[in-house]
Amino acid sequence: MENNCIFCKIAAKEIPSNVVYEDDKMIVFHDISPAAPVHVLAIPKKHIDSVLALTAEDESLMGHMMRVMANVAADLGVDEKGFRIVTNTKEDGGQTVNHLHFHLIGGRSMQWPPG
Ligand code: AMP
Ligand code: ZN
Repeated sequence: MENNCIFCKIAAKEIPSNVVYEDDKMIVFHDISPAAPVHVLAIPKKHIDSVLALTAEDESLMGHMMRVMANVAADLGVDEKGFRIVTNTKEDGGQTVNHLHFHLIGGRSMQWPPG
């Protein structure tokens, strides 16, 4: 647990969240400020600052998270029309919480490129 990390606290259930999936390695919960009809966040339970901090040991965790997110997308009903998975990284990427997280966003048509 990283000091004062809000997502470590969500993973530890010290801060409540609306959980849609959980296992020993990761948790998926609804974003508190949804940007679309479907907007959940997938995080590893262990603290990782961002994709920049990943090591070779995290490769199976990342593969697991991707597969789970695809299953969650289907559970939430956005697999047919599609969705987007995004990980904002550092200042230019717009990262506001420094614990690796993937936004899974869907339920409406997305624009490209993002703003
Ligand atoms: P980012 O700006 O990419 O770092 O994404 C952080 C996301 O976390 C934002 O979409 C926030 O709305 C979301 N968020 C912040 N605090 C909470 C919380 N307590 N529960 C759920 N989502 C949160
Ligand atoms: Zn953390």
